[in-house]
Amino acid sequence: MFGNNEIGTIEPIKEIGKITKKHDILFHSDAVQAIGKVPIDVNELNIDLLSISSHKIYGPKGAGALFIRKGLELQTIAHGGGQEKGFRSSTHNTPGIVGLGKACELGKKRMNKDVSHLTKLRDILIKEIQSIEQTYLNGHPEKRLANNAHFRFVAIEGESLNLMLDDKGIAASTGSACSSKKLQASHVLLAIGLNPEEAHGSLRLTLGRLSTKDDVEYVVNELPDVVQKLRNMSPLWNR
Ligand SMILES: *Cc1c(COP(=O)(O)O)cnc(C)c1O
Repeated sequence: MFGNNEIGTIEPIKEIGKITKKHDILFHSDAVQAIGKVPIDVNELNIDLLSISSHKIYGPKGAGALFIRKGLELQTIAHGGGQEKGFRSSTHNTPGIVGLGKACELGKKRMNKDVSHLTKLRDILIKEIQSIEQTYLNGHPEKRLANNAHFRFVAIEGESLNLMLDDKGIAASTGSACSSKKLQASHVLLAIGLNPEEAHGSLRLTLGRLSTKDDVEYVVNELPDVVQKLRNMSPLWNR
């Protein structure tokens, strides 16, 4: 994974690419989160296969792309009409594909502008929210996606926090979207060494092109009170 969808960490892809090349191992990277936020040169990074998704970069849902290095032969995953060079049969989703192409074109053109906008807002979130007592940043402090801020709050539950923020019109996330129906703690948070309580006390805030400084200030103003309210009810909280 090029950039992690939960905690935003950007992985050392160049170093991994050197190792896979040296040992003649094929290297696939899931760049769904990174594309448009991190410059990606598949040759420089020794990436053999790379996947991206349209709707994560402001394109329409239902299309994605897989970069396949010339000379690689993959097994067919859907037989039939032989579309996608025989690799994945079924009628092309033309509007989705055209939309993905346009989203990439725009994303490349405005990447610097997007990244600087997102970084500015993200860093306000990180600075202000970390100043709430017993609140910590999850993930790498610098090597992280420009749109991602992820926190751990001692003695409260991310789900309760998320509900109370929702009441105030703030959309956040706990765990990963795909697994939040499960009650288990996020495997990513456990893998970076958090215990289940810490993992359950975490919250992800992500930003997009349309996020504004006012949005961020609203969150930063509302959050401390909500955290305090929940901690006042929490048997785990003792000052
Ligand atoms: C969203 C996401 C996917 C899944 O892409 P879809 O097109 O929504 O199925 C895969 N990997 C990462 C890192 C993602 O963020």
